[in-house]
Parts: sequence; C-alpha cells; structure tokens
Amino acid sequence: MSAAQDGSPSGGNPVGVVAAAAALDVLPGALAVLDAAGVILATNRSWRECDVRDDGAPCCGREGDGYVAAWDRARAAGGDAGLGGFIAQLSDVLAGRCDAVGVDAPLRGRDGPRWFRAAATRCAGPGPAAAVVSFDDVTVDRHERDALRRRADLLQQFVDTLPGAAFRIVRGPRREPRFELVSRGVRELFGVEAGDVCAQPSLLAERLVEADRAAFTASLERAVADGSDWQHEFAVATAAGARRQVRAAARVAPDGEDGIAWAGVFTDVTQRKEYEAWFLDSVSKFRTLYETSPTGVVYQDAQGRITDANPAAQRILGLSLSQMQGRSSIDPRWRTLREDGSDFPGDEHPAMVALRTGQPVRNVVMGVSVPSRDRAWILVNAIPISRDGRIEFVYASFEDITERRALANELQHLALTDALTGLPNRRSILQRVESEHARVKRRPEIHSSVLAIDLDEFKRVNDELGHAAGDAVLRHFADVASGAIRRADAIGRSGGEEFLVLLPDTSLAEARLFAERLCRAVAANPAVVDGKPVAFTISIGVAVLAPEDPGIDAAFARADRALYDAKRAGRNTVRP
Ligand code: GH3
Ligand code: MG
Ligand code: MG
Repeated sequence: MSAAQDGSPSGGNPVGVVAAAAALDVLPGALAVLDAAGVILATNRSWRECDVRDDGAPCCGREGDGYVAAWDRARAAGGDAGLGGFIAQLSDVLAGRCDAVGVDAPLRGRDGPRWFRAAATRCAGPGPAAAVVSFDDVTVDRHERDALRRRADLLQQFVDTLPGAAFRIVRGPRREPRFELVSRGVRELFGVEAGDVCAQPSLLAERLVEADRAAFTASLERAVADGSDWQHEFAVATAAGARRQVRAAARVAPDGEDGIAWAGVFTDVTQRKEYEAWFLDSVSKFRTLYETSPTGVVYQDAQGRITDANPAAQRILGLSLSQMQGRSSIDPRWRTLREDGSDFPGDEHPAMVALRTGQPVRNVVMGVSVPSRDRAWILVNAIPISRDGRIEFVYASFEDITERRALANELQHLALTDALTGLPNRRSILQRVESEHARVKRRPEIHSSVLAIDLDEFKRVNDELGHAAGDAVLRHFADVASGAIRRADAIGRSGGEEFLVLLPDTSLAEARLFAERLCRAVAANPAVVDGKPVAFTISIGVAVLAPEDPGIDAAFARADRALYDAKRAGRNTVRP
C-alpha cells in the first residue's frame, strides 16, 4: 500500500505535487509525475490500480521508484517489452531534448492483448517535476477505429467495382456544389483524379466537350441551389479524341443536422446513346418506307383483326385506316376470290394461315372487293411475328397486281387468239382437243369428235375479189360456225382457210349430222363484201377422238383423210 493511498504524503515529496496528483485521481488514464532522474514523484489512482497488476503492466513502479529502472525490472521479470521505444523517448523528454512524446503500443492485459497510448509531457515550471507519464487504455477506441476503417475499405472496394464513378456532393458556403467524395472510376470516365475533383470541382466541366460545358455547370448549380435531384447527360472528350456520353444521376438527401447532400453516379451511356440514335434512325427510315412504299402493309392482331395499315394499303384496298381497323380477314365484306375465280374463304387468307401455322405464307394471289373499283388483285405475303414463343401479330404486305394481271390475261388471250377471225388459234384449239382426248382416254365410254373444215376453192375468191374480200369471207365463216356450235364445243382456225371444230360428247354419227347442217348453213349464208353477196362452200372431214389413239395426231390424220375424200367427192360435202 503506497503512502498516497492512505492519504499521507510519502517521504520527501512536496505536498503540492501530491495534491496535484490526487486531483488527477479523477482522470480515467494512469498518470505518474517523474523528476528529472526518472524517479516517480506521484501517481494517480488509475496508475496505482494498474500498478498492482501482476502481469507486467506498463505502469510499474511506485512513488520513490526509478521509473525507467522499474520498467527494466518488470521486463527482466518477463513483463511486456512492447514499450521499449517509449522508454527511450521518455528519456529524451526527461533530458529536455523534446517536450512531448507518445506512442500507441500493444500490451498484454489480463484478458488478452490491449492497446495503450503512452505519452510523456515535459513539465515546464519550477519544482522537481520534470515530466508527466500517462497511459490510456485505447483498446476500445482502436477496435472501433479498425472496424470503421474496415467498413470504409469495404465500401470503397464496393464503390470502385461499380461501373462508372460514384460521388457525393455537398453545398459550399455560397450554395455552390462541392464534391466531397468521388470514386476512382472518375479517372476512366473523365480522365481526372478523384482527389483533384474534390479540390477543384470545375475540373469536371473542363473535360466535357465545349458545347456541353455551360449546360453541365448550370444544371449542377441549379440542382444544388434548389436542393433537388440532379440528372444530366453530356459528352466528355476522351484523350483519344472521341466522345464519351456520360449520364449523371444524383439524389438529394438530408445530411447531418440541417444540411443536405447529393449521392449519385456518373455512368458511361455511350453505347446506350449510340443504340438510341441507331434505333431512332432505323425507326424513322422504317416509317418513311412504311409511309411511302407502293407496297401495302397491314398489321393484324392474333385474331386477324387489322390494327394498322399504311397509305399504300389504304389506297389499294380503297378503305381508310379507320374503316380497316378492327376488320378481320374473315370479314365477308372482303368478298375475296382465288386466282381461278373461286371463293377464297377468310380463314384461308395468308394472314390467317400464318397465324395458325406460325409459318410465313408467300406470293398468294387474291382478288378483293374494293369500294372504288370492281376488284383489286393483290399478291400477298404474310409473316407471323412472335414474342416469347407466342404469335403476337402478323405482318401482311401486298402489291396491287390488278393491272399486271389484266395485261397478262390480255397477252395470254392474244397468244391464243387468231387475229383475223377472233377465234382460238391453232395452238389454242389443239390444247382443247388435247385435253378432251385425255378425258376420253380416262373415260372410254365417252365419244367425242373433231371436224376438219376447209373452204372450197378459196384461191378463186382471193383471185377474183382480192385478198381483203378473202379475209372478209374468212371472218364471215367464223361468225356462222361460231353461231352454229354448242357452248361446250370449240372452234379454232388451224391455218389459212382451214378450221377445226371439237365436239365433246358427240359420236361420229352425231358429228356427221352436225357437219352436214353446218355445210348447208354456210352454203345458204353468203358473205357480203362491198354490199355484194359472195357465196362459198366448205368441205368437212369427221373423225372420233379414239381412246386407243396414242395422241391427237391420229384423229387429225383420219379427219384430214376424210376431208380429202370430201374434196374429191366434189366439195360442199361431209365425209367421216
Ligand atoms: P380447195 O377447194 O382444194 O381447198 O381449193 P383452194 O383454192 O381452197 O385451195 P388451197 O386450200 O390450196 O388454197 C388456200 C388458199 O387460201 C391459198 C391462200 O392464198 C388462201 N389464204 C390462206 N390464208 C389466207 C388469209 O388469211 N386470207 C386470205 N384472203 N386468203 C388466204
Ligand atoms: Mg386449204
Ligand atoms: Mg381450200
């Protein structure tokens, strides 16, 4: 038990020092006052309580002991050696070589390792006190500080791995924005160091392309002055001379007692901007195409109802957009026809088939009833468009082929028609005979016949009345013969003044009767040329289309032979 503890001054210590030390009892740290020789003049309560510890605690030594010597003893007894550096510094303070020293030192405490802050401060005034030595247990502080630092490190790591650069802005004294914190990513985005931005906020604006600088500064200043969230997009000039699109987004939040601060990120949106630009460009190109294309385009929903139609579609179908919207393919008002003129049921329209099968349907010809004209013929493609595995709508495009179709029909007609008489030409009538022969071969019970007709002594008509008169006679004969045949029959000009007649479902005998009637009718009906009657006659050879004939030539050969017989028999007559 030391003298100070029982309240009496210890031997040789001035009362003032003891009183001062006692006053220090209330302090939590351990204190000792040393004289210039390092002898302990006084200690406070914490020191003494520390001193009674048996584990070589730093506060070894009692009043009257030499502190440095006591320390050495403790160390020799296996105590803590961690204060070695401090003891040397303390010697400097005692010798007046410096005023104050201090170290944080790890020492072994009763419950494990502890941290102490050891300090020595020179006592200036008169008297024997040369220095005050103090020990504060800073274990808890240190743990808290370590935990804080670890948290800050983790946060920093986290922020540094984020794309872009995180930042925190506070309001300066003149309500100007000040970057309090900027993460490392700012170097990559702006080419400036985080610390430099904090010191000089205007650095950021300087990295922007010239045209964007003023707006950037103004928008940031406005957000900070108003205390509102900040969002702004701008272009940064990169070192390589390119532009980088950056977006700033920061939220305002209360900060401390009565302040506010902005936490946010700068992100590189170059790709997004490029994509946006490309997308807008594509959309506008598509829109132009959609609006100006001569191809009709309609969009139909999953039920086949029209949702949109371009101007070409409206023109071709003779309906306005609002008239079309909601109309589906199965609407009977379309009155659609197939190419062969048969009815085209709505649920077989290309759009409906595409919706049902999920497959594109191409090049389907369809006739559509159109209010402004008879009928439009269109060539349709339908493409189903799916999203997430479900067909969402169908894109149907079509061309108006009405004129093209009419022209093609016209050309086909011309190709199969004899210009002089308007009758089917040789090729056309042969096709008819050919298909009839095929029918006969399939059904041998059917009897069909052909007539080979030749005008008698036609050369004479030409010679006596001229070629034009000959032509008139040919036309006249075509009229008479056309009027004589049945609907199912066919007549064609096979050449010069020769004609072929096909009589389906007609036996040789019936054909012969018809041929004789025709001969008589022709003989009784002269042509009229320049107001004058021109009488003429014909000869006819009759033959059946036999199922056993390999082709139609055999029947023609028989008919020609019969015709030759008729000529030989004196003309204006019929021979089978
Ligand atoms: P036949 O009774 O033996 O048949 O005597 P034909 O004079 O009719 O003799 P042929 O059949 O040999 O002569 C046919 C003539 O028909 C020859 C040709 O000048 C004439 N001809 C052929 N095509 C045309 C045509 O398109 N217009 C006119 N005007 N005459 C034609
Ligand atoms: Mg002839
Ligand atoms: Mg002739």
